[in-house]
Amino acid sequence: MSIKPKTAVVVGSGFGGLALAVRLQAAGIATTVLERRDKPGGRAYVYEDEGFVFDAGPTVMTDPSALEEIFAAAGRKLADYVDLMPVDPFYRLCWEDGTSFDYNGDQEAIDRQIAAFNPDDVAGYRDFLAYSRDVFDEGYVRLGAHPFLHFRDMVRVGPKLAGLAAWQSVYQRVARHIADEKLRQVFSFHSLLVGGNPFSTPSIYALIHALERKWGIWFPRGGTGALIEGLVRLFRDIGGRIELSCDVEKLDVTDGRITAALCRDGRRFAADLVASNADVVHSYGDLLAHTRRGAREAKRLSAKRFSMSLFVVYFGLNTDRHRLAHHTVCFGTRYRDLIDEIFRGPNLPHDFSLYLHSPGATDPSLAPAGQSAHYVLAPVPHLGNANIDWNAEAPAYRDRILAYLEAHYMPDLRRDLVTSRVFTPLDFRDTLNAHLGSAFSLDPVLTQSAWFRPHNRDRVLENFYLVGAGTHPGAGVPGVVASAKATAALMLADAGLA
Ligand SMILES: Cc1cc2nc3c(=O)[nH]c(=O)nc-3n(C[C@H](O)[C@H](O)[C@H](O)COP(=O)(O)OP(=O)(O)OC[C@H]3O[C@@H](n4cnc5c(N)ncnc54)[C@H](O)[C@@H]3O)c2cc1C
Repeated sequence: MSIKPKTAVVVGSGFGGLALAVRLQAAGIATTVLERRDKPGGRAYVYEDEGFVFDAGPTVMTDPSALEEIFAAAGRKLADYVDLMPVDPFYRLCWEDGTSFDYNGDQEAIDRQIAAFNPDDVAGYRDFLAYSRDVFDEGYVRLGAHPFLHFRDMVRVGPKLAGLAAWQSVYQRVARHIADEKLRQVFSFHSLLVGGNPFSTPSIYALIHALERKWGIWFPRGGTGALIEGLVRLFRDIGGRIELSCDVEKLDVTDGRITAALCRDGRRFAADLVASNADVVHSYGDLLAHTRRGAREAKRLSAKRFSMSLFVVYFGLNTDRHRLAHHTVCFGTRYRDLIDEIFRGPNLPHDFSLYLHSPGATDPSLAPAGQSAHYVLAPVPHLGNANIDWNAEAPAYRDRILAYLEAHYMPDLRRDLVTSRVFTPLDFRDTLNAHLGSAFSLDPVLTQSAWFRPHNRDRVLENFYLVGAGTHPGAGVPGVVASAKATAALMLADAGLA
């Protein structure tokens, strides 16, 4: 490139888009973020009803060092913008028979609880932890923010992945070390947090366990929304510009380069470099539909396997008497078969396993005094696997979930209900432009990971980049923040700034 690019546009303000925008702006590229919704954050949007504050999406914050790095790239400190509070236990895992497991960073407590389920599994857990640390070093520290642009990158890491038996699933790996079925659930459910089926996601994702053990679990004071606000404030402090309610309809292309982003309200944002944080199928299939590259790539990506969707109920209670952990996983009676139905359809399973968010355990400020804010989510098939009319189904499904919580975890919940709202696969599709209403983009199976995932830089349009859950390394806040690091490195190198 003869002239050094000086301007960039990032479409979408999810964690990935914001982290990328900060890195670009900090490196001297005048960056504008265009977001279709009225608030930033994407899946980390915030709803406010009757004095309750509901984080819409991510609540389990791991690896604070990756967040600190974004602020450090701009010469600032995370602690000056956001107060991260430790969460303990990390999760409470519960079954219908009343058994539970409080998982945290305390080795003795973990050993004691494992022994109560099955004494032989204490040693097996140690082996699993050692394995998890090995894949963490390779998969997260070394390769997480490495852009896999060429097949040779894949060939290079092949032997190491083979040595770690990465073709095995997370569940297979856990089962190799741990015999008790409930403990197998405790140590294999994590891949669901990034949209991966524990029975088909490669065992490399067991690294999430080591990641949590290394850094713990955190929650921003004021909620995940406070972290998004902190990132937006940081971006603006260093001169970045963010345009909300700016729905990008099209990316203009001339001579194989993107020249501008066009919004539905007629505004046009010219830029030297353009990155999309929006869904990958939407990026190619809608924003670039008028180009041969866009149409082809959208067709290719549409044929891939997409991760499941979620049905989320946000609800506020006029009481704070429930003694819940911050993060509760409520396992149903079925595990493998239920997950199978969630990932394949064709119907909405009759039962569910739930994740219950009760931030008041760490930060009571998210609800009026004496009251409490919660959300509960059920993984459900995406719209391509089960074409459910969620507008018709949602009220009854919501009631079934609340009745279940009332029966097992929160007595009189419905009596105490002040407010509730739902987010369904249709909302993922229509509000977030998510292909098939998937909550996590492409399913992170081995054949859709690293080089096999959409690349951080487009192969054909030379100044077009991707960032976020649909590109390498994948979904989850640490994943999309790592994708921002990988994409920023490419953009800065292409701009002659690195
Ligand atoms: C309910 C839920 C709970 C989760 N819990 C956790 C958790 O506890 N921990 C964790 O690590 N991860 C969690 N995840 C996953 C994590 O939230 C996501 O993987 C991550 O936030 C996705 O970030 P992203 O950068 O890909 O962008 P997204 O958040 O997907 O944002 C993309 C943005 O692009 C915008 N956009 C789309 N099209 C256009 C357009 N045409 N013009 C302008 N803007 C557009 C969208 O409005 C959106 O704001 C959860 C996800 C969900 C849904």
